[in-house]
Amino acid sequence: MIEYESLARSNAEFMAELEQAAIRVIRSGWYVLGDEVSAFEAEFARYLGVKHCIGVGNGLDALILSIEALDLPHASDILVASNTYIATILAIIRAGHRPVLVEPERETFNMDPACLPAAQTFNTRAICVTHLFGKSCRMDAIGAFAREHDLRLVEDCAQSHGAKLNGKMTGTFGDAGCFSFYPTKNLGAIGDAGAVVTNNDALADQLRHTRNYGSKQKYVNEYIGANSRLDEMQAALLRVKLRHLDAMTAHKRKLAAIYFEQLPDWLTLPRQRPDEFDVFHIFGVRHARRDALRAWLLENSVRTDIHYPIPPHRQKAMQGILEGEYPVSDELHSTVLSLPISFGHTPDQIEQVCDKLHKFSA
Ligand SMILES: *Cc1c(COP(=O)(O)O)cnc(C)c1O
Repeated sequence: MIEYESLARSNAEFMAELEQAAIRVIRSGWYVLGDEVSAFEAEFARYLGVKHCIGVGNGLDALILSIEALDLPHASDILVASNTYIATILAIIRAGHRPVLVEPERETFNMDPACLPAAQTFNTRAICVTHLFGKSCRMDAIGAFAREHDLRLVEDCAQSHGAKLNGKMTGTFGDAGCFSFYPTKNLGAIGDAGAVVTNNDALADQLRHTRNYGSKQKYVNEYIGANSRLDEMQAALLRVKLRHLDAMTAHKRKLAAIYFEQLPDWLTLPRQRPDEFDVFHIFGVRHARRDALRAWLLENSVRTDIHYPIPPHRQKAMQGILEGEYPVSDELHSTVLSLPISFGHTPDQIEQVCDKLHKFSA
């Protein structure tokens, strides 16, 4: 069986370093917001080429705290892709605002800049982009639209660690870049973790306090804060993984290159452009008979996944909140299939997946 993903296998490569880091933290006697967190924040900020990094508890909190820190009028409209993972939309709602859906491009799964003008309302104050599947959104066009209309810009980078557009890292285009280090992400912790990055000093200062009860000085509270701190254990483990992030990305890009070369031409593959440096968090292909194809692959010992089976506007939780028709999102959700692509997979396994797929067409 070729698994969709095996975290044990992916992390095995770094096991000795991870174990050493864990022991160092246990023995240190200091477990939340300490030297490991500060060191990881500095190292991740340097990696991205951004001024500040603020470690938080998870990716959803990174988004909620960032959107709250923009201090927008209550119930502002925020533009967001109609096919994003539900977390982006939940964050907008939890921060007291209204998600307004923008359809994606079929070729990239990312927010279509051409759909922004029609989605904009008098009440629109911000755009929250998601760099889905490890590909940067067209931040050239989206950034220009945001500047022209004086909109704040938040990036959901939960799937795009190290992804670039024109050599510039995702997370560094807007007011805030929000990262998740959930174990399956390209930079994954051994549990929950997240971070916000920003070049804005005031925003960074506010986030350093809102993640920790809104308190600058112990027992003195300036903001309505949260408890969403990055702990020392996850920070120490992330420091190990960060040192290997470029190697992990290079491995995934090598596997993706095999797919591009060897997959049958009746599958629709993600768009490739020279100015887009993809990190392939997910390798999403499209096919009209997706469910039959997925079942056939499973019978032939290849596990796949679907990101995602139900679009946000069809989720029960979103009844009465997300209204309207989103045909592109519907189409993508019913045709997309995620093929195995992880640090734990070998080129040989990816070639086997390609070989099998050629037999499906026969
Ligand atoms: C994983 C993910 C999140 C949420 O991250 P958590 O750490 O699970 O809270 C947000 N947005 C996107 C696009 C994601 O893939």
